[in-house]
Amino acid sequence: MLDFAAIKKAAQSYEGAMTKFLRDIVRLPGESCGEKETAARIVEEMKKVGFDEAGIDKMGNVIGYMGKGKTLIAFDGHIDTVGIGNRDNWKFDPYKGFETEKEIGGRGTSDQLGGPVAAVYGAKIMKDLGLLNDKYRVMVTGTVQEEDCDGLCWEYIIKEEKIRPEFVVITEPTNGNIYRGHRGRMEIRVEVKGISCHGSAPERGDNAIYKMGEILAEVKALNKKLKKDPFLGKGTLAVSQIYFSSPSRCAVADMCAISIDRRLTWGETYQSALREIAALPTVKKYKAKVSMYKYDRPSYTGVVYPIDCYFPTWVIPEDAKPARAMVKAYEGMFGKPKVDKWTFSTNGVAIMGRNKIPCIGFGPGKEEQAHAPNEKTWKADLVRCAAVYAALPGIYTSGELEEGPGRAPKKGAKTAKAAAKKPAVKKSAAKKTAGKAAKGRRK
Ligand SMILES: [Zn+2]
Repeated sequence: MLDFAAIKKAAQSYEGAMTKFLRDIVRLPGESCGEKETAARIVEEMKKVGFDEAGIDKMGNVIGYMGKGKTLIAFDGHIDTVGIGNRDNWKFDPYKGFETEKEIGGRGTSDQLGGPVAAVYGAKIMKDLGLLNDKYRVMVTGTVQEEDCDGLCWEYIIKEEKIRPEFVVITEPTNGNIYRGHRGRMEIRVEVKGISCHGSAPERGDNAIYKMGEILAEVKALNKKLKKDPFLGKGTLAVSQIYFSSPSRCAVADMCAISIDRRLTWGETYQSALREIAALPTVKKYKAKVSMYKYDRPSYTGVVYPIDCYFPTWVIPEDAKPARAMVKAYEGMFGKPKVDKWTFSTNGVAIMGRNKIPCIGFGPGKEEQAHAPNEKTWKADLVRCAAVYAALPGIYTSGELEEGPGRAPKKGAKTAKAAAKKPAVKKSAAKKTAGKAAKGRRK
């Protein structure tokens, strides 16, 4: 049995150290593709607190290890932040930040530099209190480019670094709750061609902007008809950008294109979303081209790893082992948690969405602070997260949460909720079913 009181006490004793560490990395601006200094500072802290290994991979991700046991359990936090937006909306310097008795302010404090800070100290507590054993090894990451292309870093870690943890804790802000999924998303482009001519005689040409006008009306109407899921909510779309080409202000436009931000709920895939747009009558009529964007910006180390701008929906059942372990770790110290979902997207899109490695979310800070001016987080959150992180691997590997009947997601479930219900399978068959069901849901 874990000594929860000792873990809590140790976490509290590191409040000052975690605050200092967080404020240090806030001072190093690190937008996507510019995380070099932040990464170096995190490696330095890992070494200082006694990680067994700490380094940076080719893409620029920080990867640290604590312990030598068998089951690999990862804690992921992305270390890039968005920009500051309009500086006039900030009441303090976003990079200098501020600190009160309870709060820490600055760009990235909630989204999500506090996550890796709590994870580094969670691992330190495991070592300090002798919780490490031959059953598990902990990996703490500080991943890059998440704000630009969520999941890309983990696609690289899994496929190129060949690292496959048993499950991953996503340390993005969860408002004190435990999150087990979120909607997916994708970035769609619709482009229509026209023929330019002199603007004084428009009848000689074929105006691409007028065609897009008709397409836009149908795209807007489509949003209302998209699929709903009881747990994840409704799929949505929003037109986010518009482009044109035209020889001059006195000419008919010969191209018009839009970008669509599409949020995918349970059961929606990039194929189904592209098909819906391609099937719109005006898209067919004007032979508009419907495609998916690709992301290929080089990381700060110069690695280019092109990927489709598709970020699959993911959910794990409420009774999946990582979820139960997280709830148990939390309950040991802080009472009953709420188990819910994120509104935004995380690296889970690649880890669970593309690669079927279960993810469970618990992280310091609040979702509504993300990307907002005057961003802040709470010292108590850092303490609570470090404590829960420290307790989690021991609980997960203790044998007290053995996979039993019904621990596998139901194959072909029509809703995220149904997937969490217990199918009647024999103990021996449970593992097999888990693999199959995981495969089944990506399609
Ligand atoms: Zn984030």
